[in-house]
Amino acid sequence: MRYHQERYNSDVSDPKKEFPVTTSNLNPIPLQDEILILGGGVAGCAAAIALARKGRSVTLIEREPTPRHKVCGEFLSGEALEDLHALGIDVASLGAAPINFVRLAAARRAAEAPLPFPAASLTRKTLDTALIAEAIAAGVRVERGRSVQALRRTTSNVWQVTLDDGATCEATTVFLATGKHDVRGHARPEDPQRWVAFKMYFRLAHAQAAELAHASELMLYPGGYGGIQPVEGGIANLCWVVQQRYLARVGNRWENSLAKMQQDCPHLAIRLAGAEPLLAKPIAITHIPYGYIRRTTENGLYCIGDQAAVIPSFTGDGISIALHTARCAVAAYLAAEPAPLFQAKLRSALLAQMRLAEFAADGLNNSLARAVLPFCLRVWPGVMRVTARLTRVAQQGVVANHAVAT
Ligand SMILES: Cc1cc2nc3c(=O)[nH]c(=O)nc-3n(C[C@H](O)[C@H](O)[C@H](O)COP(=O)(O)OP(=O)(O)OC[C@H]3O[C@@H](n4cnc5c(N)ncnc54)[C@H](O)[C@@H]3O)c2cc1C
Repeated sequence: MRYHQERYNSDVSDPKKEFPVTTSNLNPIPLQDEILILGGGVAGCAAAIALARKGRSVTLIEREPTPRHKVCGEFLSGEALEDLHALGIDVASLGAAPINFVRLAAARRAAEAPLPFPAASLTRKTLDTALIAEAIAAGVRVERGRSVQALRRTTSNVWQVTLDDGATCEATTVFLATGKHDVRGHARPEDPQRWVAFKMYFRLAHAQAAELAHASELMLYPGGYGGIQPVEGGIANLCWVVQQRYLARVGNRWENSLAKMQQDCPHLAIRLAGAEPLLAKPIAITHIPYGYIRRTTENGLYCIGDQAAVIPSFTGDGISIALHTARCAVAAYLAAEPAPLFQAKLRSALLAQMRLAEFAADGLNNSLARAVLPFCLRVWPGVMRVTARLTRVAQQGVVANHAVAT
């Protein structure tokens, strides 16, 4: 079985939720003096909307012709909700499920605590569709179904983008927002742990769906962790990560990995009893350089979202970081702050929380910690709240620096 790329599976969401978004025609792109945004996910759309609202001429290039399911736990933290609201995205009207508490399960123990902030969950397909629609409404020229193959700087300080059909376009300012996918010439480092991530939707048995309502459950097992939570439409998202060497032990098969998780964490077996899988197979990705924070960049190239920083998934903070980095990059650009300075300041602002999240992730992978953690949380549930708060990326630093400029 190959896990080289995200895979597309049949849709589980309500087809009526497809937004009638239009794209501009696919003529050659005249891009001098425009801002080019590469990647139309969370970070790319957020930056595009903000720049267009400031009157800038923006072209966004997204390789997928229409939004699709992505490997993501789909948890929206309080910070993410605030940023989305500011962009004009009302997640409640899109059907987002409210999440009020977090439950941690390992071996045969489980503990829960209320979340110290409001949260929700929404499928990425719905969220990305709404973001693209908002970008188009803001006046962004959206080129969909076109993939960036290479990005290079020409001698005249202009960035040149080569698309999959061989067409090239140029701009003095580029926002790199291709998420998990690296563009040639701008690769992030290898992922030494060789993580593999899966996402699957289930319709849970009635009693289990009721148990899961308003909760985000984190499950620990050797070689990784997984999360399950309700999303819109009365279904549940199960997303899990496992190190490649552990996956190899179960024959590199996702079915075996899922079975082993349930064996190691009976809480999950209970949740999935009688559940109906809604995809033929999970979507999967590899190469997740957890803990990565981009050190530097070149003039005119602002790196945002997962291209700027990749926080361990259990924090459920990646979308929030994507929105935050987009907002900061836009503010830096509007304030004429050079991209290398922006990237360095962003790195310092994210570093402490990133290291803490990595430290916590290491703890989750430790067998002794796994054994005692739920017990400790039962006697001191405040730990869970404190951890949830500390592993959120503090956003004040960079924002404060740019608040005046925006
Ligand atoms: C297992 C797992 C679970 C997670 N769970 C959560 C969670 O519960 N909550 C949370 O907040 N975060 C979570 N995250 C993190 C979150 O998914 C990411 O941090 C977030 O999506 C980053 O946003 P982005 O805009 O950088 O990338 P994306 O949202 O992935 O968008 C990138 C876009 O670029 C496009 N693209 C890629 N390559 C090209 C190209 N060459 N040319 C043109 N377009 C291109 C893609 O099609 C895509 O639309 C999870 C991550 C993983 C791996």
